Amino acid sequence: MFVIDCPAHRSRVLLSERRVRSLRNTDAGVLLDLECYCGHVERIRTGRAAAALARDDDPERTSSGSPGPACGRPSR
Ligand SMILES: [Zn+2]
Repeated sequence: MFVIDCPAHRSRVLLSERRVRSLRNTDAGVLLDLECYCGHVERIRTGRAAAALARDDDPERTSSGSPGPACGRPSR
């Protein structure tokens, strides 16, 4: 679940994962586009979560040749 400050609602809105419109890994973290129930699209950067994911994900596995990019791993 995600909380956004929706300008159309003029309040905080709780959105489920179903409202995710795009998810991109960048050097600055994970960029999430969330669509509110009113149609407003809010962009969220979850840098800390991206860092936490990178810590959980064993970096040694990357160098030992797992094929392809894994979800949640920041690109370098
Ligand atoms: Zn809204």
